[in-house]
Amino acid sequence: MEDPKILTENVVDVPLRNVHKHDVIIIGAGLAGLWAAIKCKSAGLDTACMTKLSMPQRSHSTAAQGGIAASLGSLEEDHWEWHMFDTVKGSDFLADQDAAEILVKDAITVVREYEHMGAPFSRTPDGLIAQRKFGGHVKDFGRGGPVLRACYAADRTGHVLLHTLWQKAMELGVRFYTEMFAVSLITDGPKCAGVVTWDTKNGGLHAFKAKGTLIATGGYGRAWKITATSYSYTADGQYMALRAGVPLEDMEFFQFHPTGLFDRGILMTEGCRGEGGFLINDLGERFMKDYAPAKMELAPRDIVSRAITSEIEAGRGIKGGPYIHLDIRHLGAEIINTRLPQIREISIKFAGVDPIQEPIPIVPTAHYSMGGIPTDIDGRVLFDGKSQIFAGLYAAGECACVSVHGANRLGCNSTLDASVFGRRCGIAIVKDFPNLEHLPLEEDSAKMASEEIGFILNQKGSIKPVEIRDELQAGMQNYVAVFREEKGLSKMVSVIGDMHNKMSQMYISDKTLAYNTTLMEAMELRHLIAAAEAVTYGALSRTESRGAQARRDFPKRDDENWLKHTLYFRDKSGFRFDYKDVNLSRFVPEERKY
Ligand SMILES: Cc1cc2nc3c(=O)[nH]c(=O)nc-3n(C[C@H](O)[C@H](O)[C@H](O)COP(=O)(O)OP(=O)(O)OC[C@H]3O[C@@H](n4cnc5c(N)ncnc54)[C@H](O)[C@@H]3O)c2cc1C
Repeated sequence: MEDPKILTENVVDVPLRNVHKHDVIIIGAGLAGLWAAIKCKSAGLDTACMTKLSMPQRSHSTAAQGGIAASLGSLEEDHWEWHMFDTVKGSDFLADQDAAEILVKDAITVVREYEHMGAPFSRTPDGLIAQRKFGGHVKDFGRGGPVLRACYAADRTGHVLLHTLWQKAMELGVRFYTEMFAVSLITDGPKCAGVVTWDTKNGGLHAFKAKGTLIATGGYGRAWKITATSYSYTADGQYMALRAGVPLEDMEFFQFHPTGLFDRGILMTEGCRGEGGFLINDLGERFMKDYAPAKMELAPRDIVSRAITSEIEAGRGIKGGPYIHLDIRHLGAEIINTRLPQIREISIKFAGVDPIQEPIPIVPTAHYSMGGIPTDIDGRVLFDGKSQIFAGLYAAGECACVSVHGANRLGCNSTLDASVFGRRCGIAIVKDFPNLEHLPLEEDSAKMASEEIGFILNQKGSIKPVEIRDELQAGMQNYVAVFREEKGLSKMVSVIGDMHNKMSQMYISDKTLAYNTTLMEAMELRHLIAAAEAVTYGALSRTESRGAQARRDFPKRDDENWLKHTLYFRDKSGFRFDYKDVNLSRFVPEERKY
């Protein structure tokens, strides 16, 4: 612990209570953060891991249901090359192929390491790790049928993986800080010295000095009204990176999962279809025959979400309403109870529907961010989005963009991304460590964090943050969802402009710094608006359809002009775009049919 006095004089509204010093500070305790923590601590580095939640095990990764992809071949022939091809084709050829190759090769190592740490995977009758089918994962470079590739633990895969890592981290002695809300990075140009946090339990700011700082804060699905993501998915890490001058990459590519429970959006895992479930419209048809005749319900998510939305728009939703049916009745009670028990429980509790007896009402739901903080293949943040390393700053998991998912992620490749690149990031920090330094804390290091909080506490308007949030979520749901077009996107641009004004006419009555959930929500709202802005401007400027970016006014993929990554820079004066090439080291782009 260092003397905090050096900073207190310049903190305007919010007192700095402590300065902590560690070798490595990891912001986020999901799969990505915990993997990095384990690798750093195992190598002898003084490693700390923080979460804004009350306990690491509540991190959003715990919600992952269906599985983690790896070509183990437990039950049938599979190869990492097939997995790589599927990932690249699924991405609509926007994934960087050097990174995709690492993802699928490291997948096997990562799943084995989980197994050796004791992760209780479901098993085959021979005792091997059980595997199921998932959308877009097929045999023989796309020529064959669906392949058994998703390793799973019933429909609670994320829960068991997260607990396995957390137990390992505890055993190793990783230092955890909970209810610690990271607000701003401490930087000196493209060098990172650590992070300033708000202690939401006791009030006040803390500065964490570290040689290596990892952002592993997850996504921002809370920008939409119908979402499968947890309350903590509010773009905090992406916002910190933007404020430090780092661009965000490919933000226009945001995934809608086809099967969210109507009308809450709670996820009904793709594992339901992987086990053999059907999608049915009001005519009783398995309508995927009209959209992806060869792969049917196991086509990639962007295609299935568009199919469901098109059926609903054509009036073929159930009873003409805004949902269709996911039917798993024919799987039988035994399979549902052993492989999909949580799905049954959620359906009964939240929709009053027992899927053993009735079909489940579903609708596409906001799910996953393909874009994020640009990194190299070892999680080092790229200051210019291309090649300039931000010394001492790393990013991994859903907040990062390495980019393995391109324009559309395949199911089970995200727990994999977070695990593979969280792990690699930890290894990279250990490797870089001798060349990293503890930078001196400047007097005004906490100023940005203090101003962020002060901005909200000092507003004297009358608008409640929740009103602005509802407007944001409704706008994103209406104009920046499964289908997009210029008119709606332009409308969203003006909604966002309006929201910036409203943020400075906001009022929160609670001015305290401890357990002030309204203050926290208002800060998260600011981050969500910044992310929504990046998504909307990116979607408006990309005049093509590719993966999850489906423009009704530009329905075709345009490789000539748009086979490139978007880099979105934002500062007080406004935003600008830059672009970078896609790594196409192995597979040549082709028409994407399923
Ligand atoms: C319902 C659901 C089911 C899913 N199922 C699957 C699946 O079966 N297979 C698959 O591959 N993918 C699945 N996904 C996606 C996958 O679970 C996530 O993408 C992945 O787990 C993200 O891991 P992460 O480590 O990046 O982030 P998280 O697990 O979300 O961890 C983020 C951490 O950062 C912390 N944090 C955030 N902001 C701050 C801040 N300001 N200060 C301090 N801490 C902060 C959080 O508290 C948390 O500890 C699913 C997603 C959803 C929504």
